[in-house]
Amino acid sequence: MSELRDLYQEVILDHNRHPRNFGELAEANREADGFNPLCGDKIKVHLVVDEDDRIADIRFEGSGCAISTASASVMTETLKGKTVDEARALFHTFHDLVTGKTEGDLGELGKLAVFAGVAEFPVRVKCATLCWHTTNAALEESADAVSTE
Ligand code: ZN
Repeated sequence: MSELRDLYQEVILDHNRHPRNFGELAEANREADGFNPLCGDKIKVHLVVDEDDRIADIRFEGSGCAISTASASVMTETLKGKTVDEARALFHTFHDLVTGKTEGDLGELGKLAVFAGVAEFPVRVKCATLCWHTTNAALEESADAVSTE
C-alpha cells in the first residue's frame, strides 16, 4: 500500500502541475458546470460525443485544489475514446474506489487506482468526484435533450 501512496502523491502533483486536456473545446456538444462548496473547487467539463455514443474528445476548465484538478486530468485521459455506457460504469467504479468500497485487485483500474488514497481522507472525496459528477450531468443532460426532440 505504501507503493500506491507514493504513486498517489506523484500522480496528484504531476497532474496538478500539468493538467491534461485542460481548456475550452469549441466543438463540444455536451457541457456541464460543477461546484464543490466544501472546498471551493469549480469545474466545467466539455465533451464531444459522436454518433456511436463514444467520447471523441473531452476537456475541462476550472480552478480548485490539487486533488480536484488531478482527478479531472486523469479522468479526461481515462474517458477519451470510451463509450457513454463505459463512462457511466467507470463513474460508479471510481466512486466505490474513493469511498473505500472497492476490494481486491485494483490493477484493471489503471491510473485511477492511485485515487484509492482519497478514501483515507473523507473530506477529499467530493474534490476527487466533482469532475465525475459533472461529466455524468453533462451526459445525462444530453440524454434528456435527445428524448425531448
Ligand atoms: Zn478540493
